[in-house]
Amino acid sequence: MRHNNIRGLLRIPGYKIKEVSEKNEAAIHIRIEPYKRHEGICSGCGKQHKGLHSVREMVAEDVRLGGRRAFLYIPKRRYKCPKDGRIHTETIEWIELGARVTKAFGREVNRLTSITTNQEAGWFLGLNDEQVYRIDKAMLERLFEERLIPPPASTNISVDEVAWKKHHRYLTNVVDVDEKVITWNDKGRKAEVLDRYYESLGKENCEKIQSVALDGARTYISSTVNHAVNASIVLDRFHATQKASQALDQVRKSELAKARENKDEELIALTNCKQRFILLKNKKNLSDAQATTLKKLCEINQPIYKAMLLKESFLGVYDLKDEDEAIGYMYGWMDEALQSGFPSFIEIAWSMVDKIEYVLNWFKDKRSSAISEGFNNKIKRLKRMAYGYRDIEYFKLKIHQHCGYLNPRRFQLN
Ligand SMILES: [Zn+2]
Repeated sequence: MRHNNIRGLLRIPGYKIKEVSEKNEAAIHIRIEPYKRHEGICSGCGKQHKGLHSVREMVAEDVRLGGRRAFLYIPKRRYKCPKDGRIHTETIEWIELGARVTKAFGREVNRLTSITTNQEAGWFLGLNDEQVYRIDKAMLERLFEERLIPPPASTNISVDEVAWKKHHRYLTNVVDVDEKVITWNDKGRKAEVLDRYYESLGKENCEKIQSVALDGARTYISSTVNHAVNASIVLDRFHATQKASQALDQVRKSELAKARENKDEELIALTNCKQRFILLKNKKNLSDAQATTLKKLCEINQPIYKAMLLKESFLGVYDLKDEDEAIGYMYGWMDEALQSGFPSFIEIAWSMVDKIEYVLNWFKDKRSSAISEGFNNKIKRLKRMAYGYRDIEYFKLKIHQHCGYLNPRRFQLN
């Protein structure tokens, strides 16, 4: 009777409980066995058939029972398959493949690791880093196969690169701007990388894409022109901000180099790497101390002040009413940038000769890809809490877990 009650709590169709042992307060151990009439599902052919070869016991952790960790001792059967004559282990539907846990427990781990670090999730569940990593990865890999191959079709996308490691290791993310999810990612930022996205999407779905927001990188543009043949390419405010910020940072770097040469300690202190984000941050988000630092920097260093104004006036185009206003404004800005003497801004000005239409395209529906900025911040945070992300494949999955269709807080996952 008691066993039947416990059986009701476990989700183990086709099995009965043989023995329950409670060695201590912390854990409960349950030995189960399949009903005789239930043959296992052969992993070779996916069917049930006779031909039992041998049985091997496995232990899988399940969700807690009455606050105690629960371990199931499961006899796994091996069958000689009539289809290929080889021995195959049975597939148990409620076991997470590749991890010695039930799917229910895997879900528990996944729910925790989607709101906190693996370390903290591990502490809560009584698992070590290695165990959390193995369970988390196995589950995410399965969900990835189920949901993201091929990648879901989108109408409006944003393509972004994020650094995932020092020394310019990049990752390309594709964001569905309407659904506000990352739908695809891969290592690198070359044209071939984005080609892989479009190819896995398929020709038909590529043709359905209406807009692609990007930062103007040649690699992404050439790939998009080749595949998303009906899409308009858009340089929106978010991507333009990235571009202008990079240009501004170049000016900071060259002023820092000059300051070092002149042993100008005050300027070095104001332009060193630690101050970088003060320059790049949105002015509204600066603390009082940061605003004071910025003010001082602008006072003592004209070039940086000038470059900041150039960046702001570049972004000013997005506050205009329409395309017509924008054209005149952009040519005015290009003139100004060409005369600035800053190589990084001159480069943007020249690139605008070809790419001004991408800015103008933005005025067609003024769609924002600001969600990308939120994702980039999330990814940065993931990276910080991720000294466990030894492999890029796992990191890619974690991005889907926190910013995409593998997020249990936003989507029902099984
Ligand atoms: Zn078989």
